[in-house]
Formats: sequence, C-alpha cells, structure tokens
Amino acid sequence: MLVMKFGGTSVGDAQCIANVKEIIARSVTERSPVVVVVSAMSTVTETLIETARLASQGEQSAVEEKLQSLERKHSQVVEALFPKAHRRAVQKTVTDILGEFAKLCAGMALVGEMPLRALDAGLSVGERLSSTLLAQHLETNGIAAQAVDASQCLLTDDNFGNAKPLLKHTHDAMRRVLLPLAEKKCVPIVTGFLGATREGIRTTLGRGGSDYSAAIVASSLGAAELWIWTDVDGVMSADPKMVEKGRIVKELTYEEAAELSYFGAKVLHPKTLAPLQSSRIPVYIKNTFAPEKAGTRIGPSHENSPQGAKAVTSMAPVALLTLRSNGTPGTTELLARTFAALSHSHVDILMVTQSSYQDSFCLLVPQSAAEMAQATLEHAFRLELSHQYLDPLERQDVAAIALIGEGMKGTPGIAARVFGALAREKVSVIAIAQGSSESNISLVVSQEGRSAAVRAIHQEFLVPAAAQSV
Ligand code: ADP
Ligand code: ASP
Ligand code: MG
Repeated sequence: MLVMKFGGTSVGDAQCIANVKEIIARSVTERSPVVVVVSAMSTVTETLIETARLASQGEQSAVEEKLQSLERKHSQVVEALFPKAHRRAVQKTVTDILGEFAKLCAGMALVGEMPLRALDAGLSVGERLSSTLLAQHLETNGIAAQAVDASQCLLTDDNFGNAKPLLKHTHDAMRRVLLPLAEKKCVPIVTGFLGATREGIRTTLGRGGSDYSAAIVASSLGAAELWIWTDVDGVMSADPKMVEKGRIVKELTYEEAAELSYFGAKVLHPKTLAPLQSSRIPVYIKNTFAPEKAGTRIGPSHENSPQGAKAVTSMAPVALLTLRSNGTPGTTELLARTFAALSHSHVDILMVTQSSYQDSFCLLVPQSAAEMAQATLEHAFRLELSHQYLDPLERQDVAAIALIGEGMKGTPGIAARVFGALAREKVSVIAIAQGSSESNISLVVSQEGRSAAVRAIHQEFLVPAAAQSV
C-alpha cells in the first residue's frame, strides 16, 4: 500500500487539482492500493481563522467578504473541472459545507468569542472541501475515489487546536474505515489535519498537521511507503526562501529529519516521523510540480548512511530565558526544579545551555510558550527570587539556528567552524548547544542576525568546495 499526502499548494487551484489527479491516476496503475491524504487549498486555513476572528469581533461586513472569497475560490474549481452535468451537485456540496462555517461564525459573533472547540469545527471546512473536490474530480475521470472525513477515524483527546491522537483507537478505526475502500480499489481521499474525540467532537492536530495525519494513516494501515507531495524538490540544504542555491538532500535518517522539522523546517510537521519510525516506513518528499525528480528519502539509519552536515534550519522568534543564581540553589538543583515545573505546565524546551561556573543557564522555548514558561518559573522560584538568591528572570526574543547531520559530533572543529563563519558575517552567538543530540548543533543569535547566520553556515558546510571557489 502506498499513502500519498498532497499539501495546500499542491491543490491550490483547479489546474493543480487536475495535476494531482494525473499523479494519482499513474500511481493507481503502478502501485495500487493507494490512499490519499489532502490539505485544504492553500491560504484557506488562514482565511478561515481570520474570518472566525473577525466574526468574534463583530466585523460583519468583513466576514461576509471573506465568506464570499472562500465560496469564489472553491466555485472556480467546480467551474473549471466539472462537466456541466455534475457541476450543480458538486456546487451544492461546496455551498452546504461553507454554510456550516457561516453558521459557526454567526455563533461566534453572537457570543463575541472564538472558542477553540468552535474554531476546530470551522477549520474542518477547508480539508472537507478539498477532499470532496479532489474525490469528485477523480470519479468524473473514471478513477474510483471517495472523500473520507478523518473525524470518523482519527480519534484524539480534546485538546482543541493541538489535539493528540489516541493511537490504538485510531489504528482500529482507520483499518475499519479505509481498508474496505482500498479492497474495492476505491481511493480514499482522507482529510488531513482533522480528527475528533471519541464522542465525535471535531478537533485539529495543529497548523501544518496534514503531514502528521498522513503518517498516522500510513502507520495504521502498515503502508509500504509514504510520499509527501509539496512545492519543493525535496528537503533542501536550507529553506529555499532564505538560501537560493540550496541543494536537494537525497537521503536523511528519521532522526535528522525530525531534528530539522523540530527546528523550523516547515517542509515537514515535527510530529510526522514518530509514527513511522517504529514500523520503519520510509517517507519520500517530492515536488508535485516536478514529479519526475527523485526527491528526498527519509528512513532508518543504516551502515552507509551519509555522514556529516546535511542542512541548516532556523526558527524565529523564540524566547531565551536566563536564570542566574548566586550560588544557592546550585545549577543541578536549579535545572531539576526548572524541568519539573515546565513539564508540569507542558512547556516544550527547545534547547538548554549551562554554565556551571556562573551557576546560570539559558532555556530556549517557543514564543507561544514564553509567557507560560516565565510565569511557571517565577512561581516555582518565588522564594529564591524574593530573597534575591536568584536574579530576576531575563527574557530575550531571539532566533535559533540548527545545523543537522549525523556524525558531526565525532568530527572535531565543527563548533569552531560555525563560530568562524558567523564571525566573518559579524553575527555574534548568544548561546550554543552541542551534544544533546547526535545529529544537531544548535545556537542562538539575534533575530536580526538570523538570515546572515543561516547563509554563512550554509556556505561554510553545505556548498561543495569546488562551487565555493567559482
Ligand atoms: P505543504 O503545503 O505542501 O505542506 P509547506 O509550505 O508546509 O507545504 O512546506 C513546504 C515549504 O517548506 C517550502 O515551500 C519551503 O519554503 C519550506 N522549507 C523550509 N525549510 C525547508 C527545507 N530545508 N527544504 C525544503 N523546504 C523547506
Ligand atoms: N490546512 C492546515 C494548515 O494550513 C493543515 C496543513 O496544511 O497541513 O495548517
Ligand atoms: Mg505543510
């Protein structure tokens, strides 16, 4: 079985959807059974969020405008892709689904709030529309297909906006819903990003979550491979939006790819690899607009896995919190209590650097968690702070840069080369962490230094020597 996921740009307009149909048609003849996971058309999720926000603020005319633009975007696809005989039925489905969203917006306008639970129900509209349009387009072209709303089979907790899949229940439900379709040679077109609680209340997996959905589908069905179709030729040695002349990375281990996505490479959602790793399902990242290109293969590490730096990535803004003690408590106690408190508040820590000499250390946390982290630590250390055993917590908004590649740890001088490259660009390093992971050197620079730092590290490690001298 092959699972294929198409991202938002891959289904961005009628022509893109027609192109996706061609890719699916080819795969069905070569690789059946095929299961497809699809994102909302590009920009639709943003528009839905913005519309809900406007509704909760009572901006009725702006809401109307947004609703019309959503209707136009999807109706253009109906107009362009469907023969007259089918158009009316497909258009009705589009109007009905959008009507549901309009009702949710009216509810939010009434209460003047945008509850996460209602927002998740509203966001479901994006993927439900794209999966319906794609499935119907396949059907009218003679390829048996059926839109599947993942709320039937991707079961989650009720952490609206960032729900966690209940893997055992999901595994069973996925097999129950999807396998009979695959057996009938009917391609399921599953909505990415969406789930539901066991009581049937809609949830979403967090922005960019369709990659994660696809991984869950692939692992639940025991697929042979997962192909993620997107708008770049594969994982590149740096974000092509930041470094023009990046190279395609042919092969990555799960760990390398996970580190990359965790440190900001948007090409993969950070949670994607975990469900695949235990069943060793390989992932290919491929370009929908250049399907002949090989793309990047992500799989288990093996004897001949290429070693050394593979890619550089960055994330900004992120918050750097500094704790400095006057000796009591010592660093070990400080660290232990910090980790305990932050784990209790569900704050992810991106990076830790420590200076035992100064009894101080820095923590890097996502911007979205910064206030929670700060409040948690100020509460946990309230006594020490009030007696001035600890200096007041410092917060700085910064950029995190990570150089990824297995085997770097064993190569002497890597950190020195990173410092050298940054010094040449006059970017100063605020903090550095090496060693927590086998395949990652991460550092902190100012937000203004972000692009220069990424380019300098890319030039130093990822441009072949021959190209550098040209
Ligand atoms: P999709 O809609 O297909 O899920 P995304 O926009 O989420 O696509 O992810 C693809 C984007 O990821 C690319 O357009 C690119 O700008 C960005 N990106 C960031 N880092 C990298 C990288 N190292 N390699 C490739 N793409 C990257
Ligand atoms: N449509 C969702 C988003 O934009 C999920 C995804 O595209 O992966 O976040
Ligand atoms: Mg994405």
